[in-house]
Amino acid sequence: MEILRIPKIMQETSKRHIQKGKTIGFVPTMGALHNGHLSLFKRAREENDIVVASIFVNPTQFGPNEDFDKYPRDIEGDIEKLRTINVDIVFLPETKAMYPDNFLTFLYVEKLSEKLCGAFRPGHFKGVATVVNKLINIIKPHKIYFGQKDYQQCLIIRKMIEDLNIDTEMIICPTIREKDGLAMSSRNAYLKEKERVASALIYKTLVAVSDLIKSNKHPLPKIKEQMLNMLKEEPLFSEIQYASIYDTETLEELTELKKNNLVAIAVKIGDARLIDNIIIEIN
Ligand code: AMP
Repeated sequence: MEILRIPKIMQETSKRHIQKGKTIGFVPTMGALHNGHLSLFKRAREENDIVVASIFVNPTQFGPNEDFDKYPRDIEGDIEKLRTINVDIVFLPETKAMYPDNFLTFLYVEKLSEKLCGAFRPGHFKGVATVVNKLINIIKPHKIYFGQKDYQQCLIIRKMIEDLNIDTEMIICPTIREKDGLAMSSRNAYLKEKERVASALIYKTLVAVSDLIKSNKHPLPKIKEQMLNMLKEEPLFSEIQYASIYDTETLEELTELKKNNLVAIAVKIGDARLIDNIIIEIN
């Protein structure tokens, strides 16, 4: 497994593989890898000749009062995990290599970036779109892999790829969960024991809402009300940032159900901000 730190060298390496007719699958991450991440690498391993991982805690997607400094970092553990999946190249750029002092260019996907998480994390998706675009230009992947856990991120990157004619195929992989349903996340490491137990209510609520929708017996406003009430039962949730049902393409909150419905939640608990979602298809 090759470890590359310099963007230009990563770019030259990718070019060489492409010239030899190899396909490149790329999984961007911020590290502190867990089985959710690893599921993306496994899928990429099955579908490509060369698998590239990036580990980069991207400063431009963190707000001034967010957790950039204390975001979990475990480069050695990550490298060990990537070896077991036979990842070919780990791209580990320094912050200064990605954002030199004279850096001036940012990329912003309108509308989609303002909804849901965007309303609570101004500038977040501008940082995400910018860094993913840079990484795609450096790595030149045929396929790029993302997790449905960050559904809004998927929509924004998909739109960026479409709008800017970026020559890569985006693959969205299912959310991997702990036994009690909590979506795996590097930020789960922030949870104290009681908070960890309480966090299972997020997925439990998503499943309960899914059952209510599928039963076809309840009007949507009632379902939304029950959804909020379930989450309000947990005193450790210090803030319910959003919890509702949204259009899967525009992220507008729905007033009536559609064929596909995004049920999404963001809550704060202890030092963590947790998000999760499911998509419910109805006939
Ligand atoms: P992150 O390191 O949090 O930036 O995540 C890197 C990629 O892994 C993103 O595409 C995430 O959506 C994906 N991911 C994170 N958690 C999970 C999970 N529990 N299941 C599947 N994919 C995930």
